[in-house]
Amino acid sequence: IQWERQVRNSAQIHRSDGMSVLVTGAAGFVGTHVSLALKKRGDGVVGIDNFNNYYDPSLKKARRGELQKQGVFVVEGDINDARLLAKLFDVVAFTHVMHLAAQAGVRYAMENPNSYVHSNIAGLVTLLEACKSADPQPAIVWASSSSVYGLNEKVPFSEMDQTDQPASLYAATKKAGEEITHTYNHIYGLSITGLRFFTVYGPWGRPDMAYFSFTRNILQGKPITIYRGKNRADLARDFTYIDDIVKGCIGSLDTAGKSTGSGGKKRGPAPYRIFNLGNTSPVTVPTLVRILERHLEVKAKRNIVEMPGNGDVPFTHANISLARQEFGYKPTTDLQTGLKKFVKWYLSYYGYNHGKPVK
Ligand code: NAD
Repeated sequence: IQWERQVRNSAQIHRSDGMSVLVTGAAGFVGTHVSLALKKRGDGVVGIDNFNNYYDPSLKKARRGELQKQGVFVVEGDINDARLLAKLFDVVAFTHVMHLAAQAGVRYAMENPNSYVHSNIAGLVTLLEACKSADPQPAIVWASSSSVYGLNEKVPFSEMDQTDQPASLYAATKKAGEEITHTYNHIYGLSITGLRFFTVYGPWGRPDMAYFSFTRNILQGKPITIYRGKNRADLARDFTYIDDIVKGCIGSLDTAGKSTGSGGKKRGPAPYRIFNLGNTSPVTVPTLVRILERHLEVKAKRNIVEMPGNGDVPFTHANISLARQEFGYKPTTDLQTGLKKFVKWYLSYYGYNHGKPVK
């Protein structure tokens, strides 16, 4: 009963024409930011997250603390739990699902392949089944990834490009997700929007990502490992600041339409859409390190090695004209500015002052 009340309160809409959104992976990096932004403008938000230990669960708990302060309730549970999902849809008539729960990261798959199958394939299908049976059926916006472009060498990457050469199991499961969601759109009329995020960074970020672990090592005086590609070429990423990604997520939710059908019955054609959400200005990893050194006021110890074949791609670069056209997506934060904000958050969260730990 207490649980139900918390869910209902959290889902409460505080603006006219607002939506009620179930955010999966709400205690994750992107999930936290999207949930806070939706709540701030008066939408109803309920989160679900299994708080797994892929990276420091205390960071996820701290994010949940931030969400709680703003009145967002995060249910602790797995998206593979069909009964829990059915119960949630029973308590709240969600208009939208923002699906961000996933096993992220490309290298972890070498040791933990089944974790990708569990969350990114089985979990996705369980969630889609719940959405299919919900009345009304929610519109679904979910996180695919720039990694689906794999070994594609045509830049910038456009949504119509081939995505048949994934370079990691992570990429393969995201690509599979695009195909699985398509079938649910086709057969059951679910409204589906897939967002291909390009290397998202910012405050409350993910400790397994390079900009974050480089920051940690630089501050601790430990060496950082920088990969180099074929012919000693630097790796480059289309780093995209979290606030820009949040705007893209909300823009796509706003244009995803409301519920499309009822009780699993198809009612008119529902959209199936895929968009790149990137920054359109790739930066090399050595440049990333130089910016971090400047912001941290500490020199990095570099260890430059040839890229081992463990799933990384040499570069990413988004063409974002489709998202701009459809919902006015326009990233505004460059890497310098965004990393400054990240570093400021990092130093305060982990207790540093001018590159030295605060005693
Ligand atoms: P994250 O790991 O911080 O967030 C994912 C959250 O989902 C975590 O809190 C995790 O505990 C939760 N989760 C995982 N499996 C679950 C399950 N089976 N049931 C319930 N909860 C589960 O990652 P993020 O960076 O916030 O990424 C969000 C989404 O965006 C993911 O789908 C990711 O694949 C995708 N993406 C992220 C990036 C990026 O650069 N951050 C780039 C491309 C795509």
